[in-house]
Amino acid sequence: RPSPTLSGIRIANVTLSEAMTRIAAWLEQPGFHRMAVVNAAILLDAERDGSFRELLATADLVTADGMSVVWATRWLSVFGGRLVARVAAPDVMDAVVAHCEQRGYRVYLLGATAEVVVAARAALERRFPKLLVVGVHNGYVGESTSVAVAAAIRASESDVLFVAMGSPKQELWIARFGPLTGVRFALGVGGYFDILAG
Ligand code: UDP
Repeated sequence: RPSPTLSGIRIANVTLSEAMTRIAAWLEQPGFHRMAVVNAAILLDAERDGSFRELLATADLVTADGMSVVWATRWLSVFGGRLVARVAAPDVMDAVVAHCEQRGYRVYLLGATAEVVVAARAALERRFPKLLVVGVHNGYVGESTSVAVAAAIRASESDVLFVAMGSPKQELWIARFGPLTGVRFALGVGGYFDILAG
């Protein structure tokens, strides 16, 4: 099943459960892996901004969060593959969180306002009673706060990091500071903390 390339970014031709299998394998080994999702607007940004495109092109896993991208690959053969599914960030986060609860992996939430990220944590803990959320921080962070937050995540011994700052902020943060956090998997989830918080 060939994976299409759009705007210079290879999009994995996987279902949610196939993506989850890859992520589960990454969590069993040392090393940092990052995942991003793209929609039409993000692909346009990537075309205009070479450094953002590079961040996406070098991510360990990129999936399509948006049916327009999926349809484009089905209608036009020029992209080199027809996507079997949309794999949206909220669905990936839900699946990863369920996996973390089951395996005892530790989770850190970074993003949105302080009020929202605390409420998102509470909502996750209600849905996943055994989940270990080992820390949260709001997503309004500059350079020096980011260095401190990365150190705090490392100290929390978190395995997984979800970053909800919108694109491209979250992808920039993950690429730059993610390797300093000690987590084995990081995913940008856009506005999902707001939805979790209700
Ligand atoms: N956000 C953040 N830091 C910032 C800017 C935005 O944490 O510097 C958060 C914002 O509070 C919201 C989330 O990013 O929770 C998603 O924002 P937006 O809806 O603009 O992104 P999208 O979902 O469209 O990618």
